[in-house]
Amino acid sequence: MPTALRDSGITVIGDVPWGGHFSIFYETRSDLLDTVAQYFRAGLANNEACLWVISDPLTKKQARSALRRRVPDFDRHLAARNIEILSSHEGYLKGGRIDARRIIRGWQAKLRTALDKGCEGLRICGDTAWVEREHWQSICDYERKFHAALAKHRMIALCAYPLSKGRATDVLEIARLHQYTVARRKGEWEIVQTPDLKQAKQELQRQNQDLEQRVIERTRRLEVANEALRAQIAERRRAEEQLRAAQDEIARVARLTTLGTFAASVAHEINQPLTAAVANSEAALRWLRKQPPNFKGAHNTVKCALTDANRAAAVIKRVRSLLTRARPRFVSLDINDVIREVLALTRRDQDGRQISVQTKLSSKLSPVRGDRVQLQQVMLNLILNAIEAMSANKKRPRNLLITSRMNRAGSVLIAVSDTGPGLDSESAGRLFDPFFTTKAKGMGMGLPICLSIVEAHGGRLWASPNSPRGAVFRFTLPAAGKRWLRAKRRQPSS
Ligand code: ADP
Repeated sequence: MPTALRDSGITVIGDVPWGGHFSIFYETRSDLLDTVAQYFRAGLANNEACLWVISDPLTKKQARSALRRRVPDFDRHLAARNIEILSSHEGYLKGGRIDARRIIRGWQAKLRTALDKGCEGLRICGDTAWVEREHWQSICDYERKFHAALAKHRMIALCAYPLSKGRATDVLEIARLHQYTVARRKGEWEIVQTPDLKQAKQELQRQNQDLEQRVIERTRRLEVANEALRAQIAERRRAEEQLRAAQDEIARVARLTTLGTFAASVAHEINQPLTAAVANSEAALRWLRKQPPNFKGAHNTVKCALTDANRAAAVIKRVRSLLTRARPRFVSLDINDVIREVLALTRRDQDGRQISVQTKLSSKLSPVRGDRVQLQQVMLNLILNAIEAMSANKKRPRNLLITSRMNRAGSVLIAVSDTGPGLDSESAGRLFDPFFTTKAKGMGMGLPICLSIVEAHGGRLWASPNSPRGAVFRFTLPAAGKRWLRAKRRQPSS
């Protein structure tokens, strides 16, 4: 059955579903007529068939004229048989007896006719002003059965009881047999309280409280969750701050480390020529202390000391230029000269570690375009690395071979080979990574610096195994172009 609600037309009752069964206790005739008119007006407006069973002393004529005054288009509805008015004898008391089944069957027949006509359903109003005391039990029995039957039909019913006739107990009994009971007294509405209604209200109140309680509980849980969320956010913020502080610290340490490493590498570069200068000066003193003094020997060693000191000064100059971002000084140079200079500088290391040094320097090299100090630095690093690699093993022959030649591409190719332990597969891939070192006091900056210098000169630097043992470090330098050389020659030397 459709559950669509019907407008009862009675404000205090509102919308009711099909099967709605309600009663009204009225005080005056106009209380009855006003209520019935409102009820039918809504029914007719919503295409329901309407049936009014009136009661003495109201006559059909009076009923019609009362509705005519209160219901729009009443006569049209009457002519279309949308509304029918029956007397209590026709409606309830056929044969002078209240027969609940017969009466209900009568309503069901009226409903079928209404539905056949295309109406939505049937709306009944029965006035019980005719009911006398002796009918009371039968009318209650009828109401009970009607109540049960209504639930299955597209019908709604309003049972009207005059207040003047009913006793308080009767009112309550009637109220109990209906879903809603209202009273109309001189135009004013009152809702009749019944134990069921009271219970329903209490149930509603209980459910409301329950709902409220659930809302409170839910709100509390949300607040707890919110609080936890807030705490998590605060915790996250704290963690982020800690992370930021840690990152700052890392950056600070990294700056210090870079500076420290840089300073150490500068020290390494300067230390070599200074050590050599000191050694040569001591040698010169020894020559001079001889009897008679050997001025020639002293002169030669002082000259060597001077060269060493100049190299140290050049390194310092280079570092200074690096710090002031001065551009490298590219000149045309013979790389063989650079190799010889560096070999001379490292003689002390070679001798001290019993290294046999061999050179195969091509006399047909093209000049290269380069910064002398930077290229010295490359050679120095490669030679010192080779010497250090071979120093570890005392038994093997310690052969350092330095070669230079032109390669097929027209570049100068320099190779530094040793007979040390060579490169294991792990180190081979990381040799040029900054700070990669296998030495206890190593810095891991030598090879990365060499790589960046060679690349800045337009060359390549790489390492490979030597045969039968050791390592070979090779680098190329592009030959200085003729045009550049001509231009360079025209420039005044600085
Ligand atoms: P450092 O000499 O301070 O370790 P380098 O960058 O010059 O820094 O060298 C990095 C590493 O490369 C060395 O620690 C060593 O393990 C390896 N290496 C360099 N040259 C040789 C070589 N001739 N033979 C074997 N290993 C070498």
